This record gives sequence, structure tokens and C-alpha cells, in this order.
Amino acid sequence: MNTRTISAVTLSRGAALGPALVYDEGEKIPAAEILPPERRESELVLLKSAVEGAVRELLETAEKAAREIGAENAEIFEGHADIAGDEDFFLEMKAVVMEEGRCAEWAARTVSERNALEMEELDDEYLRERGEDFRDIGKRIASHVSSLRSGACREQGLYPPHPAVVCSETLSPAQTVCFHLPHVLGFVVSTGGSTSHAAILARSLSIPAVRVSPKDLASLKDGDTLILNLKKDELSVHPDAASQQDARALIEREREKRIALEALRDLPSQTLCGRRIGLYANAGSMKDLPLLGAVHPDGVGLFRTEFLFMEQPSLPDVPTQTAFYARVLETLSGRPVVFRLLDIGADKPLPYAPHPHESNPFLGWRGIRFLLGNPGILRGQLEALLLASASVGAEVRIMVPMVSNVSEMRAVREILDEIIPRTGGRALLGMMVETPAAALTVRSYKGLSDFISIGSNDLTQYTLAADRENSLLSGLYAETHPAVLRLMASACRDARECGMETGICGEFASRPEGTILLAAMGFDELSVSPSAILETKALIRSLRLSAAQELLARVLELPDSASVAGETAAFISREALCV
Ligand code: PEP
Ligand code: MG
Repeated sequence: MNTRTISAVTLSRGAALGPALVYDEGEKIPAAEILPPERRESELVLLKSAVEGAVRELLETAEKAAREIGAENAEIFEGHADIAGDEDFFLEMKAVVMEEGRCAEWAARTVSERNALEMEELDDEYLRERGEDFRDIGKRIASHVSSLRSGACREQGLYPPHPAVVCSETLSPAQTVCFHLPHVLGFVVSTGGSTSHAAILARSLSIPAVRVSPKDLASLKDGDTLILNLKKDELSVHPDAASQQDARALIEREREKRIALEALRDLPSQTLCGRRIGLYANAGSMKDLPLLGAVHPDGVGLFRTEFLFMEQPSLPDVPTQTAFYARVLETLSGRPVVFRLLDIGADKPLPYAPHPHESNPFLGWRGIRFLLGNPGILRGQLEALLLASASVGAEVRIMVPMVSNVSEMRAVREILDEIIPRTGGRALLGMMVETPAAALTVRSYKGLSDFISIGSNDLTQYTLAADRENSLLSGLYAETHPAVLRLMASACRDARECGMETGICGEFASRPEGTILLAAMGFDELSVSPSAILETKALIRSLRLSAAQELLARVLELPDSASVAGETAAFISREALCV
């Protein structure tokens, strides 16, 4: 086999060595292979089962939506089920398999696309917009075909079936949380920036991940031996024996470094000059709880509850949620835990929650906007959080995502004030500062918000108008842009002056330049992925705050992110910081 080197961007650090496994969940139209006549009948049987599975799933979702969030929200799913089960629709797909010899996924995707295009030609606006519904249905059927082909393996949580580097165009959080993690050696993707949710999840699970070009990704085949991150920004395919040996040695050195850092586990997170900075962990799944035990954070600064919901086959009811939240509170035994209310929408759709098609989902119905439109889900979650607080006897911190208007915090506060006396729980309420609007008006939330937490991942994309998921913009998307830094610094100052606790839970907190500048801004807490806690603590313990504050004053006056990055890198080496 010829050794090849592919240029890659590291999304999650760490080396990995193992066989490639190409992940395809029915998103892509499979290769245009023409099936021989004798295989077409069995392909049709597969298509029929997939259609039945998709219809069944849609009807179950409709029933659940009607029960939990109102009959009007069930209609979308009932409508999709009618189309998916429509006889003429099936006959069109059947012809593609039997007459054209295409596979079942191809039939589902092309027939739905054909119907979508026809709808989009119509004059009636309502019908035009139904085109997207056909695409969703096609994708759903294709995904059922893929699951049937790969057997029950994924359903049983045993995907990948063996240790492998998972290669996929994109990885949605919903897919990633369902993987059997002991088998995931690494990820190779072709989309997403360093703050995409797939990258965040990979880092929080300490799984190495790289991004390559779509063309390079398409060249990878199941079973190809891969090495990730042996050299910076490189992916090696079919490496020779010497490189494989080097990779094994590097993986071992990384393991030893992690063990050495463990000596810091019980030491306080404070600067050289003695200023304490709370070091909290970001989490989002029950799978994260053992990691929290291993690194002893001062608390959880962001529990992404939407990831927890994504692990469930349907909307978890109040008792199920209460049990989850109580387990998290118990694990942290009295240390603060900030639960973020469901932040769905944009790149984090919830498969079973109804969501209309949106042209600009990142500027759309996400976070608190979605929750206020679905009061049943919002109330259920608040109630479960308060019940968990009452049952464990610990205060919960509840954080509202995607705030841009005071009315949103006021609405949540009102519901909370009504629920607290009924449940006997204790809660603080805080807001995420992820929009420039929230950052610039922090003072207006005095009395409504007990704390703020900067969501730098979104704050950066909204300030710079640069989609965090779009790899074409990775040169523009930078938290070190002075505009973003100024918003963070002023939000921190305003919140402190209003008596609110200040934290940050975006990925910037765990990057050396972020840790330094945020400590200088005066944040009370930094919340980072569990895998970054000890490294961040090592840096904080080597930091002179007065020097960092001088650096901050200088960089806030610089014109662009490149000069800030340069100035900060020089500071790190001058101060001999532990990074
Ligand atoms: C953020 O936007 O910085 C954040 C922490 O939230 P998420 O990454 O889940 O959007
Ligand atoms: Mg966010």
C-alpha cells in the first residue's frame, strides 16, 4: 500500500492510530451502482421495510408531540407519515429500483428530490415550502435503509462495531452521542470549525479529531490504516511501520503527560499571585460524569441538556429528567452545577421535536426562542430541575440560552417564581451572553439574572457574522478579534458592577490565549471541557495577573485578531507559562 499524507486541521488534540470506518447514515446518495436484475427484488424488500419503519417512527413522534406539546404540533409529523406511506410515492421509488436498478437509498433520495423540485415550481407559497418536507422524508427513509443494512449494531449502541477512526463528512451531536465510545479512536470530518458541536464533543470526550478536504475524505476507505496528529496538521494514510511505531510512542507519551497532570487535581486553581479563578467543567451527558470525578472541577459551568435529550429516543418526561438532573447534582456533591435549558435549533435539531424549515437557522428559532414557543417543554424542564434540587437538597443554577431581549429572561423568571414554592427546590437563574445584544445590555438584566456566562462560540459568530460551522470561514472566525474581546470585557465589567457572578463557558476559556485574557478581564469562573481542566489549571497557576492585565490593555487597542494572537504568543513565551 502506498503511504499518503493528507493535509488536515486539528479539531481535537491527541494522536490516534487505527483502521478507518466510513460512516454513512443515509445522508449521502450512495454510489450510482446499477444493481443486477437478480438483486433488485431483495432491494425492494429492504425499501419496503424502511418505508414501514419511517412511517411507524413518524406516527409515534406525532403521538408523542400531541401528548406533550399540543395537537397542533403533531400535524407536521402526521403529514410526513401520510406522504411517506403514500402508495404512488412508493410506486415511483419501486420503479427506480426495479426498472433503473438503483439501490433503495438512491430511490428514496431521488424520488423525494424530484417531488420537492416539482413543489418548488408551484405558485402557492405554502405548497412551495412543502418541498423541503419531501427532502426530509427521503432522508428519513434512506436512513432507515442504512440502519437495516448495517444490522442492529447501531441501535444496540455498538457502533462502531470494532475500534476504529470514524470518517464522516459531518458529525451531528445527535449522531456522536449515540456512538459506542470505547470503540472510537478518532474522527476525520470534512466540515465544521473548531467550535462546531462535533469538535466540542470530541474534545470533551478526549477523542482526537481532524478536518480534511471533502475530496480527501472521499478518498478514505474502510480498513485504511490512519494516523491522526502524529505531525501537526497531517493525516497519514497507510503509514509505514516506522511511523506506526512513532504514533504508538506518541500516544504513550500523551498518556504519561495526562498522568503527570493528575498531580494538580487537588490543588487550587489560582494565579501565581494568589487570585482564585473557579475552574468549572462543561458536560452534557451521563457519560461525562466519570470524567468529572477524575479531574475534580470546582463545579459544572455548563451542562448542555440538549445533548442529554439527544440520547433519548423521545422527549424525556418530567420524572425521567428529574432523575438525570438529580444524578448530576449528586455526583458534584454540593459544588455548583449550571444546567443550561434546552438549546435546540440551528445545528442541534432534536429529532423528535417539531421544527419548521428555516432559511437561516442560526439566526432563527433556537434556544429560548424555541422554548417560549413550546411552553410545555420549558415548564417541564424547569419543574424537573427544581424537583431534582428538592430531592438532593442542592441549589440548581439554571441558564437561559440565546438571550437577546429582557422579555425572555422576565418570562423564565415568572415561570420559575411560580414553580419554586410548589417544588421546594432552590435555584439561581442566569443568562448566556451569546449575542452582541445581550453583551451590550447586561446592565438591563440586573435583578433578573443572578449570573452571566459568556457563550464565546456563538458570541464570536454573531459579532463577526462568521458561521462557526463553516470551514471556509475559519480564517475569519476568531475569538481574539478585538471586537469580540471588547464585548466580553465590557459584559464582565457590567455584570460585576450589577452584582452578578461572571463566568464563561465557550471554548475560548480552554485555549491558552483565552485563559490568559479572560483571567485578566476578571471573570470569576472559566468553564472548559473536562479533558482541558488540568492543563488550564497548570496555566492559571503559572500566570502573573498584573502582567496579564497589561497584556489585555494592549491587545484591546490592536486592530485585528492576528496581531492579538501574535502579541499573546510572545507573552506566553516571555512569561514562560505552562501551556
Ligand atoms: C457558546 O455558544 O459559546 C456555548 C457555550 O454554547 P454552544 O457551544 O453549545 O452553542
Ligand atoms: Mg451557544
